[in-house]
Amino acid sequence: MNYNDDSKRMSNFFRHALVLLSFVLAFTITGCEEEEVTIPGLYAFSDVTVVPMHTVVVLENHTVVVRGDEIEAVGPSDQIEIPEGARVIDGSGRYLMPGLAEMHGHIPGPDDPQYAEDMLFLYISNGVTTVRNMSGHNYHLELTERIDNGDIPGPSVIAATPWTSPDNIPGPEEAREAVHDFYEAGFDLIKIGNIRGDAYEALADEAHAVGIPFAGHIPEEIGLTGALEARQASIDHLDRYVEFMAEEHPEYDDRDPGFFGSGVVDLIDEDRMEEAIGQTIEAGTWNIPTLSLVEHLASPQTPEEMINWPEMRYMPPGVREHWVDAKHNFQNRDDFQPEAAQRLVEVRRDLLLMMHEHEAPIALGSDAPQFFNVPGFSIHHEMAMMVEAGLTPYEVLVTGTRNPAGYLNTPDAFGTIEDGRRADLILLEANPLTDIGNVREPAGVMVRGEWWPEERIQTHLDEIAARYEQD
Ligand SMILES: [Zn+2]
Repeated sequence: MNYNDDSKRMSNFFRHALVLLSFVLAFTITGCEEEEVTIPGLYAFSDVTVVPMHTVVVLENHTVVVRGDEIEAVGPSDQIEIPEGARVIDGSGRYLMPGLAEMHGHIPGPDDPQYAEDMLFLYISNGVTTVRNMSGHNYHLELTERIDNGDIPGPSVIAATPWTSPDNIPGPEEAREAVHDFYEAGFDLIKIGNIRGDAYEALADEAHAVGIPFAGHIPEEIGLTGALEARQASIDHLDRYVEFMAEEHPEYDDRDPGFFGSGVVDLIDEDRMEEAIGQTIEAGTWNIPTLSLVEHLASPQTPEEMINWPEMRYMPPGVREHWVDAKHNFQNRDDFQPEAAQRLVEVRRDLLLMMHEHEAPIALGSDAPQFFNVPGFSIHHEMAMMVEAGLTPYEVLVTGTRNPAGYLNTPDAFGTIEDGRRADLILLEANPLTDIGNVREPAGVMVRGEWWPEERIQTHLDEIAARYEQD
């Protein structure tokens, strides 16, 4: 997806012209009375502390002007004039940071459009203004268009193809064909599942030729090194790292690797961690850790306790029940007994920290809605886990703001608060750099220039909760 293309710029131009015209009309109709007329799409956050995220800094007493879907001006309040007709949002005592990206999210498919639209709203209600949808459907391309046109509220979507598996891609020939079909359909990336090794190699080859990235899991036959050699765009869930660290152990071949390596985690040689990370950096491959995917299943909390978290009321009852069953099933798996599960959590946190220390590219993702990960809400769990793993709040926020724009090779498109960036913003009551928990429950969220104050968000959330109330 190219956020900077000319057609978008042209449509912005027309939108601005239209906004101006409606202002003139509104003014003419109301005559010259001293009535306050605001221009649609023109906002000013006044006297706010800006957390711009291009560097570790907070800028006090600033004004941020938004016009249409773009940040028009950022500067000290005594230097930036609030344009006439702007709707002023009082920022005093508050913090303004860029919107977050969920780089491994899922948007439900066409079977239940209401459910899909509800999940889109849960993302933005939590300040998640970009979602990389990691198992797609043609329906999502349509949905993305409706979001971009302003027909339904939602984040900007980076659209992956349907999950690839030996069912839809049995061999190399089908793989090459699929790459072209996916590309022509308009998907932004190909989601990798556990396909055969020769199918993966053909897919990778063809995808590079066509110019469409591929990302996600790593097929078992390919392994970490194979995926890095193929220049996979991102590895999600830290897939196959544990296997890489364990594979030289004499017992390795007799074991089933289990869930993200849970079956072989006791065999790992920690010295191989640095080697794995070195290869990752060399390949330029991104990592989307999704710590919470494993940690929610491995935690000592019972599923019955977890299903009572306040955010669970926004999920359909059927999904909640499925999550409870899933955790019980995991607790009964041989490869996921408490010792192995806890070790897996530790190793994954160590991996993340070492990746970060070696400056491997990392982007934020939690895998929602999957196992207790309620869209939007789960990103806050994920960020808290990353802080527990040893990153500072600023470092964690970089992975969710600036880095996703870097992943897309559009570093100037969004992810920082600077002139010309997409107007994706989160208004907070406290400094997110002192406590990552301060990002929860925003005072307001702006998505591509559309303003959602807290009360408006809550009204919408209450409607969703009412829909999924269990009697
Ligand atoms: Zn996923």
